Amino acid sequence: MDVVDVGPILVNRENPVPAGYGDSIDIVNVEVEEGFSVPVEREAAQSYLQMKRYFSALGVRFELLSGYRARQTQERIWNESVAEHGEAHTRCYVAQPGYSEHQTGLALDLTLYDAQGDRVEDDDIEAYGQLFPHLHGFGFILRYPAGKEDVTGYPFEPWHIRYVGTEIAREIYENDWTLEEYVSHVREKSGERR
Ligand SMILES: [Zn+2]
Repeated sequence: MDVVDVGPILVNRENPVPAGYGDSIDIVNVEVEEGFSVPVEREAAQSYLQMKRYFSALGVRFELLSGYRARQTQERIWNESVAEHGEAHTRCYVAQPGYSEHQTGLALDLTLYDAQGDRVEDDDIEAYGQLFPHLHGFGFILRYPAGKEDVTGYPFEPWHIRYVGTEIAREIYENDWTLEEYVSHVREKSGERR
């Protein structure tokens, strides 16, 4: 059964970015600060900017820390982490080159600011939690939720979101799924039809 093209692209510890995928991504630069921009897939970038305006009106400010990464960039991050923290730590927290969702251009790392303009700590669940119920309205999902570590293969990352489009994002949010669970649901359904 050919299941390769069913559902949105799934990149995780078992599923690498397909060969040649990176050549066809439509990447745009999102301005973050003066003289600094982050490359993101075009549709994801447009939705991100809409979401940013929406939150800004609510008094919530965040910025893009990371978007699209070329394979070479992921290699550098991997090597630097191994040098600094060792291989065991790196395997837990860093995707191997070829296996990072950031190579699709659809994964974004956010950094959140509090009302005083200070950067919120990465593990401040309460602060990041105010974003979660609104992500799907803009086509994003929280990619590595708490309690799903065994499914995603990654620890809880409240700052890492993934663009899948509003329809899929809503279904994932309403069912409390991960992308892995959504994809196996879709594959099961498509298998039943054959
Ligand atoms: Zn990330």
